[in-house]
Amino acid sequence: MPKGKISVQTENIFPIIKKFLYSDQEIFLRELVSNAVDATSKLQTLARKGEVSGDIGDLTIDILIDKDAKTLTIRDRGIGMTREEVKKYLNQVALSSAQDFVEKYKDEASIIGHFGLGFYSAFMVADKVEVVTQSYQEDAKAVRWVCEGDPSYEIGAAKRDFRGTDIILHISEDSAQYLEEGEIEGLLMKYCRFLPFPVRFGTRTETTYETPEGEVAEGEDKPEPVKVETEVDNIINNTDPLWKKSPADLTDEDYKAFYRELYPMGEPPMFWIHLNIDYPFNLTGVLYFPKLSAGLELQRNKIQLYSNQVYVTDDVKDIVPEFLTLLHGVIDSPDIPLNVSRSYLQADTNVKKITGYITKKVAEKLNGLFKDNREDYENKWSDLGVFVKYGMISDDKFYDRAKKFVLLGNTEGKHFTVEEYRERIKENQTDKYDRLVGIYTADADKQHTLITSVQERGYDVLKFEHAIDAPFIQSLEQKEEKITFVRVDSATPDQLVQKDEEKEIVLSEEEQETVKGLFTEIVGTAGSVELKPLDTTDAPVQIVRPEFMRRMKEMQMLQGMDPNMFPDAYQVIINANNPVVKEQILAKEDAEARTENATHLYQLALLSQQMLSGADLKAFVDRSMKMLS
Ligand code: ADP
Repeated sequence: MPKGKISVQTENIFPIIKKFLYSDQEIFLRELVSNAVDATSKLQTLARKGEVSGDIGDLTIDILIDKDAKTLTIRDRGIGMTREEVKKYLNQVALSSAQDFVEKYKDEASIIGHFGLGFYSAFMVADKVEVVTQSYQEDAKAVRWVCEGDPSYEIGAAKRDFRGTDIILHISEDSAQYLEEGEIEGLLMKYCRFLPFPVRFGTRTETTYETPEGEVAEGEDKPEPVKVETEVDNIINNTDPLWKKSPADLTDEDYKAFYRELYPMGEPPMFWIHLNIDYPFNLTGVLYFPKLSAGLELQRNKIQLYSNQVYVTDDVKDIVPEFLTLLHGVIDSPDIPLNVSRSYLQADTNVKKITGYITKKVAEKLNGLFKDNREDYENKWSDLGVFVKYGMISDDKFYDRAKKFVLLGNTEGKHFTVEEYRERIKENQTDKYDRLVGIYTADADKQHTLITSVQERGYDVLKFEHAIDAPFIQSLEQKEEKITFVRVDSATPDQLVQKDEEKEIVLSEEEQETVKGLFTEIVGTAGSVELKPLDTTDAPVQIVRPEFMRRMKEMQMLQGMDPNMFPDAYQVIINANNPVVKEQILAKEDAEARTENATHLYQLALLSQQMLSGADLKAFVDRSMKMLS
């Protein structure tokens, strides 16, 4: 066979290719099957134009393993190549693009998708690559090209009686796993699942049950169905994936079925968005909204990125905004540059436009749901809320859009938009600085006592019980005019919304000092003590954690600081106007009785917030019994 030498500028490109991205070796299969798909679709185009004589026949792409010969073959029935084309495409085009690629990216660790290495990626796993091909052109002769991973190659005539190309990889010792059916099937499932032409990998057994035919005599049982096993082609892919179809032709059940196809283990999605745009960039896809209530961590079903139906990656965080990575589904765009570094990708204008487009679509969908069926939307809110709030926190544009449909839920199970809520609390919950004060609970069950006393004042209490709510509240405070939020336990109920009216303290200065001194001793370092002139009916002792301090602490803990660095400091508010203070403490002559009663009141306050435990709780219970007997 005549020999030739590939003109290589780099000293020797093959060792570099072999080592290149060792961990991503497996992409060779994607590259070669993609080439087969390209060749097949080119043939189809030519046939449509009438440039292929005769029937084009079956276009299935075959993946074949020959364990004895230690080969893996990718066979297509595409356009094939003539001898001149082989020289041109494999020795020049393919080689120089591989060279460019290796040159450019050999020092670049973070390449997304690793596209572009193309045909020569075969040498990552093969010592020798054979190409046997026959062009679609009339009277074309079959050609065989062989290269052993060095700059020399052989080219000659070959025996082949059908159009198309076989890429035969002689798998190297250290890549022996690519001769295993399981490995190859796994890779095909990952990269080729939605390619537009059928990819066949061996056969599989299909089991059916058939009832034997024939008359059943009277009194006799019907014959049992018989198990029938048939070998059928094992087609790896769905050649017509849902996202390529027109939404008008699809039912809800189609979307759900496709979700199951993508994530067989996943819970059914709540709803979805079909993306379809061709200007100024090309993008199709389907994004599903999962149920999120279980928490952010559980979202393991990632969005998959495809380029012309070829799987690229499920690491899309540079392509879609952070918060949208909570969604599931597929994005397919040939316009996302795939073989570039992260930093480049983030600066890319196409990627920015895509990001903007997806964000807009998602907002439109949510707005539509909100407007079309508010009740249904509210029912879904516990799942949706996390997502919407996360988006509002992390994306200013989304914030502006979502402001119309983000809901605030209160302890009575009612939901309000921001504007509706302003209206609701305007009259009662405007403070002396003319700010609206939203009151919330982080745990409606635990804070039940407080919530009740706050509600008795005619205030509304919102439920902000998810981890996302703390940053969400901050966003609202920053972006909305004159609104602030305080937790039910951040002040005594009458001080949550600061109004002008200060009551007078009924105790004398001396009495005040006595009470304060007594409680300071009891409370110790756990908190600070303050006397306040509250309503006579308000609890005599109350525990509060000022909003600002608590938020600081929460933030520092979020940043990973040692929570013990910040003792759970609270304020103990003594309601100087509650008659109990005078009657049960000041009126007692006996110092011991005073201390005992004060301790009891303090522990009662702790108890009502579930803060009393251990020996203190036991002492409290014992004392209560003693008092009753
Ligand atoms: P790319 O596909 O990006 O152009 P490759 O290195 O993968 O680069 O391939 C180089 C060229 O070799 C292709 O453009 C095509 O012309 C030719 N080629 C590769 N594989 C096949 C195939 N299976 N059938 C026909 N032509 C092929």
